[in-house]
Amino acid sequence: MSHRFLVTLTVALIYVLLGLLGQTMAIPPGNVTPVWPPSGFALAAVLIYGRGMWPGIFLGAFLVNTQAFFDITSLTAFINAMLAGLAIGAGSLLQPIFGSWLLKRRLEKTALFETPNAFLFFSLTTPFICLVSSSIGTASLFLAKESAGAECLRIWTTWWLGDSLGIILVTPLLLMARELKPRINLKPKVLVSYVALILTTLFSFGVFFTGSVSHYPLAFLSLPILLIFSFQFSRFDTMLAVILLACLTTLLTYFGEGQFVVNNLNTSLLLLQSFIAITAVTTMTFSILSHRHNQTEKLLREENHQRSMSEIELLNLKRNLEEKVTQRTEELILAKNLAEQLARTDPLTDMKNRRAFFEQYQYIYNLANRHEQTLALMIIDIDHFKIINDTYGHEFGDHVLRLIANVILNTIRESEISARLGGEEFVVLIPQTDAHHATFLAEKIRTNIEENEVRFEGKRVPVTASIGITQHNRKETESMKSILSRADKALYMAKTQGRNRVCKL
Ligand code: GH3
Ligand code: MG
Ligand code: MG
Repeated sequence: MSHRFLVTLTVALIYVLLGLLGQTMAIPPGNVTPVWPPSGFALAAVLIYGRGMWPGIFLGAFLVNTQAFFDITSLTAFINAMLAGLAIGAGSLLQPIFGSWLLKRRLEKTALFETPNAFLFFSLTTPFICLVSSSIGTASLFLAKESAGAECLRIWTTWWLGDSLGIILVTPLLLMARELKPRINLKPKVLVSYVALILTTLFSFGVFFTGSVSHYPLAFLSLPILLIFSFQFSRFDTMLAVILLACLTTLLTYFGEGQFVVNNLNTSLLLLQSFIAITAVTTMTFSILSHRHNQTEKLLREENHQRSMSEIELLNLKRNLEEKVTQRTEELILAKNLAEQLARTDPLTDMKNRRAFFEQYQYIYNLANRHEQTLALMIIDIDHFKIINDTYGHEFGDHVLRLIANVILNTIRESEISARLGGEEFVVLIPQTDAHHATFLAEKIRTNIEENEVRFEGKRVPVTASIGITQHNRKETESMKSILSRADKALYMAKTQGRNRVCKL
C-alpha cells in the first residue's frame, strides 16, 4: 500500500470516528448535532497537508453521512440515501477547500493562534465558510425527501452553527498541536483548574440542586475559570478547557440538565451553540492576547538583559584598555629611563660620560656658589697612552681604559663624582673640598693606577697617569670653564714635570 493511500484511509477513518462522535451528541438522537468535529478536522487537514487530502475527506464524509440515512427497505430509499451521502460528502469536501483558500489569503504567514487579530479573523470567517456545507447538506436532505420544507430552515441553522463550532473548537487545537508540539500539562495547578471548571459548570447547570434552573446568565459562571486558563496557562491548555466545557454543556443539555433545556428543542440547541461559540471565541482571544503580552514582556526583558550585558562588556573592555595603557606607560617610562641612562653613560667604561658630568658639575657648582663652599676638580690623563695603543693594539688600550676607570671608581667615595671626559682623560669632582685636601685623593688614585697590575701575554705593562688638580675660588665669580681649564693647566704641568705625578694650581 502506498503512503498516500494510507494517509487517505487514515483521514477517512478519523473523519468517520469524529463524525460518529458528533452524531452521538445529536439532541435528540438522530437530529443534526450541535457541534460537528469533522468539519474542524477537515479544515485542519487541508490547511496542513493541502488539497491533496480530498479523497480521504470525501470518503469519510460520504461514509458517515450515508450510514446515518442508510435504509435498504426500499430501493428508492437506498438510492436517496446514497445520493444524499454523495451530496453531503461533496459539500463537506468543498467547505474545507474553500475555507483554507479564504484563510490562507489573509493568514499566509501568521498562524491563526498567533495574534488576536488572526484568531478573530478566523472566528468571523468560520460562519461564512460553513455556509457551504450546511446549504448543500440541507438542500440534499430536502431533495432526498428526508425533511420537509419547514424543517429545512431549522436543520440549516443547527447544521451551520454545528459546523462553525466544529471548526472553532477543533481546527486551532490541531494546528497548535502540530505547530507548537505542546505537552498536555498535568501540573497540580492546571488539574485543579480543570476540576474547578467541571464543578462550576455542574453547579451553574443546576446539577447540585433540584428543580429547574431557568436563569440563563448563570451558565456563564464558568467564564472566570476559563479566563484564569487564558491568563495563567498555555493556549493549548486553554483550548482543551474550552473543549471540555463544550462537551460538558452538550452532555448536560443532552441529559436534560441546565440552562439551555427549554420547551422548544430548537431554542435549546441555539442557546447551547451560541453559548459555546461565545465562550470559545472570547476565551481564546484572551488567551492569545495574554500570550502576546507575555512574549512582548519576555522580549523586553531579554533586550534589557542584553543591554546590561553589553554595558558590562563595555566596562570590562574599558578596564582592560586602561590596564593596557598603564602597562604601556610604565614600559615607556622604563624605556625612557634606560635611554636617558644610556645617553649619560660611557659605553666603554660604564662611567658617566662628558654630558652627564657637566650636568652634575653645573649642579654642584651652583650649590657651591649658593652656600659659599668650595669644590675641587682633578683631571687624570694616562701617560703615553698612544704608545700603549701602538705597542699592544687598540683593543688592549680599551682594556687598559676599563681598568683605570675601575681603579678610579674604587678609590673615590660615593659623594665624589667621576667621569670619562674623552680619550684617555678622566675627571673627578669633589664637592665641599679644597685642592689641598683633594691632593691626598689624587695621590691615592695615582699610586693605585701605578700599582695596578696590567699584563699583556703574561708580561707586566707599566701604566701611570698624571693628574692636574685645582679648586673653585668661590670669592670670585669664576666660571665652570675656567676651573676646568686651570685643572687642565695643572695637568699639563704634571706632564711637563715628568708625568706620573700630581700638580696643583
Ligand atoms: P701623554 O703622556 O702626553 O698624555 O701622551 P699620550 O700618548 O697619552 O697622549 P696623546 O694625546 O698623544 O694620545 C692619546 C691617545 O689615546 C691617542 C688615541 O689613539 C688614544 N685614544 C683615545 N681614545 C681612545 C680609546 O677610546 N681607545 C683606545 N684604545 N685609545 C684611545
Ligand atoms: Mg690626553
Ligand atoms: Mg695621555
